Amino acid sequence: MKLGTKIQLYITVMSAIVVILINTFVYFSYKNFSLDAEMSQLEGRGVNIMQELQNAIGSDANTRAVLQSHLLSDGFIVLLNETGGQELRITTSASYPEDFEDYNTGQYRDVVTYNDIHFVMVSLPIIWENGEVYNLQIYENIEFLYDTFNILQWILIISTLIILVVIYFLNRIITNVILKPVNKLIGKMKETENTSGYTMLEVNKNDTKELKDLSESFNEMMLDLKENDEQQQAFIMNASHELKTPITVIDSYSQMLKRFGKTREDILDESIFAISDEAKRMKYLTEQLLSFSKAAQARENFHPEKLNLVQMISGIKNRLEPVYGRNIDMHYDMDYMFVTADADSLDQLFKIFLDNAYKYSSDDIKIDITQNNEYTYVDIIDSGIGIPKEDIDKIFNRFYRVDKARARKTGGSGLGLSIAEELAKMNEIKVSVESAIDEGTTFTLKFDRAKEEEDENQ
Ligand code: ATP
Ligand code: MG
Repeated sequence: MKLGTKIQLYITVMSAIVVILINTFVYFSYKNFSLDAEMSQLEGRGVNIMQELQNAIGSDANTRAVLQSHLLSDGFIVLLNETGGQELRITTSASYPEDFEDYNTGQYRDVVTYNDIHFVMVSLPIIWENGEVYNLQIYENIEFLYDTFNILQWILIISTLIILVVIYFLNRIITNVILKPVNKLIGKMKETENTSGYTMLEVNKNDTKELKDLSESFNEMMLDLKENDEQQQAFIMNASHELKTPITVIDSYSQMLKRFGKTREDILDESIFAISDEAKRMKYLTEQLLSFSKAAQARENFHPEKLNLVQMISGIKNRLEPVYGRNIDMHYDMDYMFVTADADSLDQLFKIFLDNAYKYSSDDIKIDITQNNEYTYVDIIDSGIGIPKEDIDKIFNRFYRVDKARARKTGGSGLGLSIAEELAKMNEIKVSVESAIDEGTTFTLKFDRAKEEEDENQ
């Protein structure tokens, strides 16, 4: 169902309910009030008659005279004895039915209907001269009131219908005015859908605020998509470029082997080593590419938990020292320093930084773990070749390597730090770098301790 139709339907139905409720209330209040007023008036008159009758009691003629003198403009009076028999009946119209209510010694009032004629009535007790309690019932025709009720009823029904029709059309106009910008935007979006590339919507000064906001969000989304697309393209291009070099090398060496391999032993040896080296490089590159795409999608397998950094880094140190053949010196204030992170990705993260420290230095590597009230810091320090100032901002870019020629020798892919950046982002860790050429480099990982407390409160 269209939004406009929905709004229109809801408002019309709600207004109908409200208008009908109000009109019903008006009708019944008026009816009750009118009948009540009529009955009160009749009751007052009845009490007067009762008093006068009390004085005139003695002869039937007197009673009749009193009742006659009070006879209503339109109605009848009935006097009942204790057995419920009718002693006396005076009426203004012979066409009125012979009906009356049962004998009753209480005083009450009511609305009754005989032969489809509406009457208000009061019933009053009177002590007769013989000591019996008689029952005086006075009836007044109120058909004129019911005619009024009928007219009122029709007026209210017709006015309800008119109000509903007016509300329906007003509603249509208002809904159209409100939804016009949205429909306009939908139209524009459909237009961009048919054009190729990432087309932006133009934001007009005269557009409403909501429309402007919507258009701007749409444009931002388009920009994000475009950027993402461009990044992906660049990534594929870089990856193919990186893979192309080893493939070219392997290709040219295999050509050489084809030609001279059987006759020249020196070429045979050189080619075999070169091909093996390049194959290793390709293997490493594809492994790095795989772990990069895994890191970017690792959020599904992301399980943050409370980890003791000291214990974790000691484990990594013991694992890597024999591989590197170098010392990794650890310094920490306390044996227990907790952070909340995903264990696997944190392990991978430390390995990336330690790997760089190992590759780009030749001395021992240092790890400092410190803590203040707000943060826990891990510094990974090497005293190696350092990073030039102008390159520091770029080292986290995919495939970026400071010295390409040397990097080829160290066998790097330039993906390590971009994987680290993804992993750090996921674990809400801030990474910073300080470096000086030929002095060394320090990577600092900053863990927010608020996260750790949050975890404890859970
Ligand atoms: P990979 O990590 O995929 O094996 P890589 O080490 O070349 O390859 P990154 O880890 O992303 O790639 O690092 C990017 C570049 O930053 C490196 O090529 C190197 O030039 C520079 N770099 C990173 N860490 C250090 C360091 N500790 N000392 C000096 N230079 C570094
Ligand atoms: Mg690296």
